[in-house]
Amino acid sequence: MATPHDKVFFGDRIIDAQDATLGVATSAVLYGLSVYTVFPVQTTDGARTAFRLRDHHQRLLESCKIIGIDTFGPAWPFERFVEVVRQVVAANDPQHEVYVRATVHVDESIPGTRVRGLSTTVSIFLYDAVPIVPQDGMRLKTSVWRRIPDNAIPSRAKVNGAYVNSVLAKQDAIDSGFDDCIFLDINGHVCELSAANIFLVRGGTLITPDVTSDILDGINRRTILTLAREEGLEVQERTVDLTELYIADEVFVCGTSAGVAPVHEIDGRAVAERATGPVTLMLRKRHLAALTGDEVHGWVTTL
Ligand code: PMP
Repeated sequence: MATPHDKVFFGDRIIDAQDATLGVATSAVLYGLSVYTVFPVQTTDGARTAFRLRDHHQRLLESCKIIGIDTFGPAWPFERFVEVVRQVVAANDPQHEVYVRATVHVDESIPGTRVRGLSTTVSIFLYDAVPIVPQDGMRLKTSVWRRIPDNAIPSRAKVNGAYVNSVLAKQDAIDSGFDDCIFLDINGHVCELSAANIFLVRGGTLITPDVTSDILDGINRRTILTLAREEGLEVQERTVDLTELYIADEVFVCGTSAGVAPVHEIDGRAVAERATGPVTLMLRKRHLAALTGDEVHGWVTTL
C-alpha cells in the first residue's frame, strides 16, 4: 500500500503529512464531497516534469463546475496551481517517478446536502508511482456492478464519493481472482475499468468507448488517441459491445496509475493467444516517450 510522502500542501501551506487532516463533520467526510486528479511527475537527471498539468487543472475545474463547487476556480488559477505543485514536489525531493494527487475538499461542517458557496480546502500530496494493474498481461472480469450513469453521479466528474462504485467493482473482481473489472453501463455497453480507460484493436482499427459512454474523459485516453492518429491508425470513438472485446485482436487499458497495459484474458476468454499485440506495444512506447519528454505537443511542464 502506498503512503504519502512527508510534506503535504494543505489549505494554504506545506505541512507534515500526519497533520493534514480533515474534520469528521466536513462534507468531504460526510458525503465524499471532494473532487480530485492524479498526475505523474518524473525526475530525470535531476530535472522534474509533470505530464499534461494544464489538462489536469482544467479537468479539476470542470469537476468542480459539474458538482457545483464554486470556491475553488476563482482562488486557483493555473499559475497558482503550478507554483504550489512545484513547491510541494521540491519539499519532498523525490528521486524517482511519483504520482501527485490534488484534491479540492468541501470542508464546511454539517451544512446539509448542498454545495454551492461552501468553503474548500485543497490538499496536494505525492506517493510512489506503483501501477494499479499488472503491466505484462492482466485478466479482467465483467463486473456485477453497473457504471453509475451520467444522470446519477457523472463519471465525467472525478468526485471522491463516486469511487464507491469503483471500489465495489474492483473488490468483486479481486474476490473472483481477477486483476480488475470491466464496467458496463445500464444498457450493457462497455465503459471502462475501475480506474482506467479501455481500448481494443480489430482489423487494424483502434476502438474505444466515446466520452458519452459513462466514462472518465481520461487524459491518457486523449493522449493515446492523439498518438494513434499521428501513427496513421484508423480510430473510432463509439459505443462498444462487450462481445467486441471477446473477439478483439488486442485489448489494452490506459490511465495515470495504470500506464498503457495489455489485457490477456476477459471473462475466461484469451485475447490474441495471451500475447501483447504490436499496436499496444507501439502505443505503450510512444506514451512512455511522451511522459518523459514530449516537446512536440507541449504536454510536459518543467517544475
Ligand atoms: N477512468 C477512471 C474511473 C479513473 O479513475 C481514471 C484514473 N484517473 C481513468 C479512467 C484514467 O484517467 P487518466 O488518464 O486521466 O488518469
